[in-house]
Order: sequence, then C-alpha cells, then structure tokens
Amino acid sequence: MTELRVRVPLRYPREDAPVTEPARQLHEAPQPEAWSRPFAPPEPSVFSLRNLSFWYGHKQALAEISLEIPVNKVTALIGPSGCGKSTLLRCLNRMNDLIPGIRVQGEVTYHGANIYAPDIDPVEVRRRIGMVFQKPNPFPKSIYENIAFGARVNGYRGDMKALVEKSLRQAALWDEVSADLKKSGLALSGGQQQRLCIARALAVQPDVILMDEPCSALDPIATLKIEDLIRELVREFTIIIVTHNMQQAARVSHYTAFLLADEQGAGRLIEYGPTEQLFTNPREKRTEDYITGRFG
Ligand code: ADP
Repeated sequence: MTELRVRVPLRYPREDAPVTEPARQLHEAPQPEAWSRPFAPPEPSVFSLRNLSFWYGHKQALAEISLEIPVNKVTALIGPSGCGKSTLLRCLNRMNDLIPGIRVQGEVTYHGANIYAPDIDPVEVRRRIGMVFQKPNPFPKSIYENIAFGARVNGYRGDMKALVEKSLRQAALWDEVSADLKKSGLALSGGQQQRLCIARALAVQPDVILMDEPCSALDPIATLKIEDLIRELVREFTIIIVTHNMQQAARVSHYTAFLLADEQGAGRLIEYGPTEQLFTNPREKRTEDYITGRFG
C-alpha cells in the first residue's frame, strides 16, 4: 500500500501544528475590505479546497468551491436538498471515485497533500478520512467483528481486544454492549448501530470523520446522544457534518458553510463563517432567506 506522501501525526491538538501553506497565504496576503474577504478560520487547516468543481457525467454538481476546513472543529455543510452537500463531503475522501463517469477539477489538499494527485492511494485517504452515512450500516457480523474486521484488513497487528474496547468507549457505546460483544451488530437499536459505525470508523485511526446526515434516521433521543458524542470526539478529531437540520448545525458546529445550486444546478459556496455569526448575522441575503425558512 502506498503511503500518503505527507506524514502527519494522527493526533491533535498539537501546539506546533503547522499552518498549511494556503491558509497562511490567505491570512498574509494583502487583504481586501473585511466584508468582501473570503473567510478563513484562524485555526490550522486540515483541508484546503481551491476552485473545486465536480461533474457526474455532463451534470455539474459543484462549481468553484474554495474553503479552509480547520483542525479539531466541527464544520457543518448546510443548504437545500440537491445543492451538492453530500457530493462535496464525498470529495474530501475520494468516495465519489467509486461512481463511474465523475470528473473533478481544482484542488483538495489534506494537510498540504493534494489527495487527487496520481501518486496518492485512495484507500489510504479513506482510512485517514473516515465516513459515517445517513443510515447506520453495520456489517452483518458481531459487534466485536464490526470493529475488528476493518482494523485487521488495514493491517492492525496490535491487541485487538483492547482496540475494540477503546473504539467502543470512544463512541460512547461500550457500557451498553460490553456484556455481549458476540451479539450481532444488526440487533442493536438504530442509535446504537450508528454509534457502532462511528466506533468502526475510529478503529482504523483516522484523523477526520465525515458525517453525512448521521442522525436523519434516528429518533430525537438517539440524535442528542450522537450530538453529545460529536462534541466529545472533536477534541481528538476533525469533524465535517452534512445536515439538513439547521438547529443541529447550530448546536454542534463551530463553522458553517452554506451552499446553493446556481441556475445550472451546480452547487456554489454562498457563505462560510463561524456558525453563530452565520446564523445570527449572515453577510448574504440568500443565507438569511434560507436560515429564516424563506426557501429550501
Ligand atoms: P445534497 O447532499 O445537497 O442533497 P447531492 O450532493 O446529493 O446534494 O446532489 C447534488 C446534485 O448531484 C443533485 O442534482 C443530484 O441529483 C446529483 N447527484 C448526486 N449523486 C449523483 C449520482 N451518483 N449520479 C448523478 N447525479 C448525482
């Protein structure tokens, strides 16, 4: 397996965490008036997107998205259905590669490495940048095997029992399942299944977790548990979450990006900023119209 070229420690925060070059340039470049300046968070970036455009065959789904996604924060992607949120999320770990006929233009760098460069191994990209989907999708295996399987496939040779316990604890599921790890993952409740999927993602030691509407299939109690978990996990991981639930974005995220499809149907970044500011004092009229429920 080819390794990603840029070696970075898997754990944050680090006091000496490097500010990636594009983020530094953005901060140090002569700045236009504050109101017209593209927003970049003050924290070091994990991802830098430069003019990212994306096509499914002839259909353009994303147009010229530029965005800095900071380390150890929750970044939410919001916008009406079909504006490209999931597509954008899947561009971050090359999950779209699995769809025939796609085309990507522009740049997605992860800790400074362009993940679409020819010498980058997409399998390694997906290990470091884990994903959790809308519908919990545990393997039809035991709870233990749900965690151990991926770790084993990824070459983990350490103490598997300890890894399973650690991952389940990190996903706030250990206390509920430790008595019977042989039980099928499919026998758990929806919320537990989603936490099992999060544990499975954590077991291969990623540093980013992408979440695509992780609570959309869950009841309110299970949803709040996942939100609590997100607040815990972000101490150690960088989280990017797609949500159609604006209250959820406001509750869990530090930064929010608002996307909207243009007349051709291609998703564009309309506004990006600290979540509180975007929800209480948006710069753009279109953001205000969306968050106040005037469309979408
Ligand atoms: P959102 O997550 O904001 O609802 P998506 O990223 O799922 O939006 O979709 C963006 C656009 O891309 C939509 O017009 C959708 O129909 C289209 N699209 C999504 N997935 C595919 C696919 N596999 N093949 C073709 N078009 C797709």
